[in-house]
Amino acid sequence: MQVKITSKEILNWYYGNKRELPFRFTKDPYKIWISEIMLQQTQMKTVIPFYNRWIDTFPTLKSVAMAKSDKILKLWEGLGYYRRCLNFHKASKIVMEKYHGRIPNDYKIFRSLPGVGEYTAGAVLSIAFGVQISAIDGNVNRLLSRLNGIKNLTKRNRLIIKNKIKSLLIGDIVPGDLNQALMELGALVCIPKNPLCYDCPLSHVCKAYRNGNPELYPIKIKRPSKPHLEVVTAIIWRKQKFYIQKRSKKQMLGGLWEFPGGKVEKGETLENALVREIEEECLFTPDIIKRATSINHTYSHFSITMHCYHCKEKKKKITSQNPFNWISVKDIDKYSFPKANHKIFNFMSKNGWHI
Ligand code: SF4
Repeated sequence: MQVKITSKEILNWYYGNKRELPFRFTKDPYKIWISEIMLQQTQMKTVIPFYNRWIDTFPTLKSVAMAKSDKILKLWEGLGYYRRCLNFHKASKIVMEKYHGRIPNDYKIFRSLPGVGEYTAGAVLSIAFGVQISAIDGNVNRLLSRLNGIKNLTKRNRLIIKNKIKSLLIGDIVPGDLNQALMELGALVCIPKNPLCYDCPLSHVCKAYRNGNPELYPIKIKRPSKPHLEVVTAIIWRKQKFYIQKRSKKQMLGGLWEFPGGKVEKGETLENALVREIEEECLFTPDIIKRATSINHTYSHFSITMHCYHCKEKKKKITSQNPFNWISVKDIDKYSFPKANHKIFNFMSKNGWHI
């Protein structure tokens, strides 16, 4: 016998079990939008303090649009995936200039803004404006795959999931609540490992549960192993100050500040790579004093070992095409740096900055 899921039983569970999250106390589309951007690829517990700080600093979309990118990147520092932040900044300016500060509630228009994908558009429009549209994230895909016994998340099966949700978004159902209920059930109960089927309000209709091993749904796609890179970087000293430069906005981690350096090429020694990189970037040959430290860091698509060297400026002065600055240790907090640079700062603070 085919048993149907009803929106009501999902919503009843949600109203009784949902987490009290700061962005669930508002219908302000700006606050919902920024929370959704922060939550991409990032865990809830990491996002909440960033979200609260962000809203304290930028209470309105206008305040974001008017801010300098250095200021917004500093606030985003540590959250990662900085492109999200720069895209949101760009989008905020477009909304101010083109839409008189009103966040568009039309799917096509909202989706055309930088950094707004299908999921973000669905989440923001359904939660903030009550648009009857689905918002399918990884949690929802997993939940619906298990409920429907879907093993492979093919294009066709994703469409089936989308249509199943569409069939739930009917009548007087509040679409934002239903979307959040599905996400919450996936995040809290139908978790990737050891799903809590005994606490699940939908176990009576769940095909994966009936089949005995819900973890097998959906089949996980094996990701290729991440490449590992050796990277060299220089702390170039001029008296008590060291040199930092700003990454171009087109690069990964664009807009952040960093020590100069780059990838070690095949067959190159670390020192030779450092000299080559600094000559290319700063048009200057560094005087290498000694190795400071090496740290490991993992990004989404690759990992690095970063070898850091103390260097001195020679007579020929540094020139760089990118913005640069000479700062002292106490100025570090005024700039936003990638996490890998912070690992070096932490090491230096514990072990001493001096050569
Ligand atoms: S019964 Fe288990 S597998 Fe099925 S939806 Fe609920 S938590 Fe997920």
